[in-house]
Amino acid sequence: MSDIPHQNLAIIGHVDHGKSTLVGRLLYETGSVPEHVIEQHREEAEEKGKGGFEFAYVMDNLAEERERGVTIDIAHQEFDTDEYNFTIVDCPGHRDFVKNMITGASQADNAVLVVAADDGVAPQTREHVFLARTLGINELVIGINKMDLVDYSEDSYKEVVEEVTNLLNQVQFATDDTTFIPISAFEGDNIAEESEQTSWFDGPTLLEALNNLPEPEPPTDAPLRLPIQDVYTISGIGTVPVGRIETGTLNTGDNVSFQPSDVGGEVKTIEMHHEEVPSAAPGDNVGFNVRGIGKDDIRRGDVCGPADDPPSVAETFQAQVVVMQHPSVITAGYTPVFHAHTAQVACTIESIDQKIDPSTGEVAEEEPDFIKSGDAAVVTVRPQKPISIEPSSEIPELGSFAIRDMGQTIAAGKVLGVDER
Ligand code: GDP
Repeated sequence: MSDIPHQNLAIIGHVDHGKSTLVGRLLYETGSVPEHVIEQHREEAEEKGKGGFEFAYVMDNLAEERERGVTIDIAHQEFDTDEYNFTIVDCPGHRDFVKNMITGASQADNAVLVVAADDGVAPQTREHVFLARTLGINELVIGINKMDLVDYSEDSYKEVVEEVTNLLNQVQFATDDTTFIPISAFEGDNIAEESEQTSWFDGPTLLEALNNLPEPEPPTDAPLRLPIQDVYTISGIGTVPVGRIETGTLNTGDNVSFQPSDVGGEVKTIEMHHEEVPSAAPGDNVGFNVRGIGKDDIRRGDVCGPADDPPSVAETFQAQVVVMQHPSVITAGYTPVFHAHTAQVACTIESIDQKIDPSTGEVAEEEPDFIKSGDAAVVTVRPQKPISIEPSSEIPELGSFAIRDMGQTIAAGKVLGVDER
């Protein structure tokens, strides 16, 4: 790890607009592809007579990984700029991308939105911008990509910039801090160096814009929240729950509580990357062992926290939701599956309390009969089984969720308040 500040960066945008190509280009331009790996393939590429082989190599490798269905893909790729160590969170195009984005499995600080110059704003452009706004992504850098396909035309660029600006205004994404850049991920224009093809453009290159992103907020001083992903039994150790620490720290000797299973005990050992460690911090993936906890006492979806400040378990909760896509209308009584951190629980929308005007954030209607695609609303939710969830204002990492039904994400939301059991 380098000692420059770290950022999680999401690359969002419509399918085929060039997200993977851009990631490949960023890795290549920042020298993040190990030299020995390039060497290894130099000959092979030359044999095949590939021009500009180095970049082609990066792309071939990414494509090959994708074909093999390898999960490393382009997610979790790292690259350094002068100012930051970036991790690409999640793979664009990944089936669970939208869901992961919502449930905090991949909290991004900032995002690059890729919009192809020859296609403009497309359905997933809207969906991703909408989610970025709902989920509190701080700033967007917008790459108008494939400029080579529109002959680097300033008019085409301006047209797409206007389309995107309208979209951002619609969802109330403050555009003051948004940087637009005409790029070609494929040709490398305005990525690391100013392109001669766009002499009409006097803004920064993409790497300069990434350097100018605000530093992520330091982690909150929230208490430990560690959603459990799996529970293993390991001989010689016993029951080992595993998960990623979202907030707080986990130390050996701590007294912890698992909710909603409502059991607890003292942390005996913590393991990370196959090594025993005395403590672990937010972002760490850990396996640990708690005195007196058996395999059947806890399960995926439980959240581990301090015994004296245990995770909240909701009898009901109030939430702000935005409906992305629903074939008909949503009325009180609707019971889809809510996905929050590692939990999946059927929850009934008990009442629709207020419809919100998404462009002003003001109440548009009290107790509407229904909401439909595009609507934002405050709703009261009753989980059908206990679920641990927190107000987004207190612990944002545990305060958002996706609503899934019929195999797709139909809405996303933030928890406003929790009525504890
Ligand atoms: P993703 O689905 O958003 O990840 O898009 P890809 O990165 O897979 O790109 C989709 C297609 O667009 C591929 O055939 C790329 O080679 C092509 N592409 C990506 N960026 C550019 C670009 O800047 N110029 C041109 N001409 N093609 C591009």
